[in-house]
Amino acid sequence: MAASLLPVVANSVEAGDPLLAYGARIVGDDARTRIVIDFDREPRFSVHYIANPERIVVDLPATAFGFPAKDLAARGLFKDIRYGKMDEESARIVLTTTGPVKLALAKVQADEAGKGHRLVLDAEMIDKRAFAELVKTQSWSDRTEAAQTTSAIPAPEKAAPGDFVIAVDAGHGGIDTGAIGVDTKTEEKQVTLAFAKALTDRLNKEPGIKAFLTREDDEFLSLSQRVLIARQNHAGLFISLHADTLKQKDIRGATVYTISDKASDKLAADLAERENLSDQIAGKETVAEPPEVADILLDLTRRETQAFSISLAESVLNSFKDQVGTINNPHRHAGFRVLQAPDVPSILLEIGFLSNAEDEKLLLDEAWRGKIVGLLTDAVKRYRAAVMANGG
Ligand SMILES: [Zn+2]
Repeated sequence: MAASLLPVVANSVEAGDPLLAYGARIVGDDARTRIVIDFDREPRFSVHYIANPERIVVDLPATAFGFPAKDLAARGLFKDIRYGKMDEESARIVLTTTGPVKLALAKVQADEAGKGHRLVLDAEMIDKRAFAELVKTQSWSDRTEAAQTTSAIPAPEKAAPGDFVIAVDAGHGGIDTGAIGVDTKTEEKQVTLAFAKALTDRLNKEPGIKAFLTREDDEFLSLSQRVLIARQNHAGLFISLHADTLKQKDIRGATVYTISDKASDKLAADLAERENLSDQIAGKETVAEPPEVADILLDLTRRETQAFSISLAESVLNSFKDQVGTINNPHRHAGFRVLQAPDVPSILLEIGFLSNAEDEKLLLDEAWRGKIVGLLTDAVKRYRAAVMANGG
């Protein structure tokens, strides 16, 4: 090799040599997707956002892309991924996304073996307004500034400091109609949206409470998108509203569900299984959860959150007592994916069953809706008072 005849060079790789990207991985779903690219040396990079259609552009120094294309095949939030040479000194990765996104994380870390460096890009779905803000406020001039890109991202719209923020989730929507009423053929997605809107309006009349809807229209949201929206808006509570059907048409009344690995009973297990099918109904691939840091702190958070969820469920059932019919053992639990936020106390409320004709009548009755919404608001207020009394 010619290089051996030359005087000793400290680093065998000359500055002008292109970086080698020798490995790539992509994991995640339509709410969060992570890309990891392995480099032989530390890459300097910058990130930019482009609208119409929404894209993320990652600029790199000259890079040879040596991994198989299939290792970085588009999935999750990305519908097209391209990369290659721009000129002698630069290369670019263009990530075309399924909608507005931001990189919640974009950083280079040394790999465990200390041999190379990996570029980690964590994309998260955001709303249109936040994406427009990203496009508007970014700078194209400074190549290094974006290396610490997280600080440049505007925070989601926040409630006033000290407000108790509540995510109200209308179950189903769009292509996923949910259950269908026995008599009137009313779709569950309409019933849940009407209740969710009424509950949000009612909660927002309370000083110090700021409620918002995960969906405001008849649109499809995947289960993980619902969870992410709650977390992005710093929700302190998540309430998912449903009115499903059961094979046993005589069963009627409300049920409150909290999450657990093991279902409390067969009815709860069946219901959770059907609810978790929502993503498949819309043709979403069911994929493994995006990487969560599995550590003791997260476990503690989960356990604490679960205790809060249970306390909210009990508060709701206390409010309903002698006011609203409930099924036997009205607090049940199962592995509902929509209740999986590790840090947001969450419940799923089956207001009633569209498979029962009497329940169906009530579910469509505006006065009854007002009553339920009032009782839920009382429950939330009592829950909040209890949490604050305990220094939470
Ligand atoms: Zn449902």
